[in-house]
Amino acid sequence: MPGTRELLVRVGSRAADLGCRAFLVGGPVRDLLLGRPCLDMDVVVEGDAVALARAAVEPGEPAPVLHVDFGTATLVSGATRVDLVTARAESYHWPGALPAVRAGDIHQDLARRDFSIHAMALVLNGERRGDVLDPHGGRGDLEHGLLRVLHEQSFIDDATRMLRGVRYEQRFGFAFEPRTLSLLERDLTCLDTISGDRVRHELERTFDEAEPEQALQRLDVLRLLSALHPGLRFGPEKARALAGARREPLSTAQLQGVSWCLLGWGMDAAMLESLRVRLTLRRSIVNDIADALAVAGLEMQLDRPDLEPSAVFDLLHGRSHVALLTAGLLLSRPAARRSIALYLSRLRHVRPALAGEDLRQLGFSDGPAMGDALTALRAARLNGEVASRADEVELARRLLGTGGR
Ligand code: ATP
Repeated sequence: MPGTRELLVRVGSRAADLGCRAFLVGGPVRDLLLGRPCLDMDVVVEGDAVALARAAVEPGEPAPVLHVDFGTATLVSGATRVDLVTARAESYHWPGALPAVRAGDIHQDLARRDFSIHAMALVLNGERRGDVLDPHGGRGDLEHGLLRVLHEQSFIDDATRMLRGVRYEQRFGFAFEPRTLSLLERDLTCLDTISGDRVRHELERTFDEAEPEQALQRLDVLRLLSALHPGLRFGPEKARALAGARREPLSTAQLQGVSWCLLGWGMDAAMLESLRVRLTLRRSIVNDIADALAVAGLEMQLDRPDLEPSAVFDLLHGRSHVALLTAGLLLSRPAARRSIALYLSRLRHVRPALAGEDLRQLGFSDGPAMGDALTALRAARLNGEVASRADEVELARRLLGTGGR
């Protein structure tokens, strides 16, 4: 299987055979110049990207994934992905609309990009092979750590660029160049033109950053969050909580869930509903946030030092895991945080040894009394009042004597 470099060399030479020019563009050029690893390659072709993808595959290698209608194709080789697209020129019919796209040349393709550091192209074939085309001064901006839009209308055309910009600013320790920053401040209201799906997608990409709390805090400081929705906040306390969550052994999906709960923390039910509508949030995300808010409302009850484990269980049982993790990180009262930690580490796993069938054999009949007995058995387990199956049988017999039948 060819490595990244070999694959790109091959793409360049097959492009030459087909009589077209091919270029590496965008993120990979940026990463190459920064000396950072990159596995996702974006190639722009002045010609038919699908035909080039077909020509770049050798017998025995996986077939390219083709999107003939869109004129795009993907080559996969081990961990490397090469996306090939036909060079495009585009125009925006109205702010925030997805652009109208037509075939163009590499210069038009670079001119439609978000920031100068993404508007460079490495020539893959022909006389200038190996050269970097840099019509917008991207290389200098990369050296100075600056994010610069290509023209004054950029954020108006597509306000998701503001969200993208913050992500790159924080990932690379860069800064918005002053004019770009003032355009961002000027055009904040253009975020209203972006669909819920696109905003949510950008936020979720931000959650996936190595240190998402930096970018989320910056979105707050630049008032991008409040422009998206007046109830969205992400201050230093939430940033510390997210950094804490990242140190836990959580899956990517769980970290995303915690990130949503943190964003929603502090809202009321009406705000959460309007956030759901604005960002077209999935039901599962809304439920997680609602659970986090409900647990926040239990803080005083959870704070009582004499609370029995079974009472903690009753308060927290059925709440989503990520909501509990979030509350455990953010509640201010230490005893409440300890109760949540106890529930997550131990109480939620506790089950009585006896099941319904055992109770039936002891003489219980199906119905509410059996449910009550199972609950009582679990409470006794949680509180350490029974420690063995024999203890539970004894307790069940006592319960039966007091009306279980
Ligand atoms: P990374 O994946 O490391 O975040 P990337 O640059 O590969 O960075 P993508 O989102 O895959 O990011 O975008 C690929 C390229 O497409 C970008 O480098 C940029 O040139 C261009 N691009 C993406 N989104 C926009 C946008 N909203 N406006 C203009 N150009 C964009």
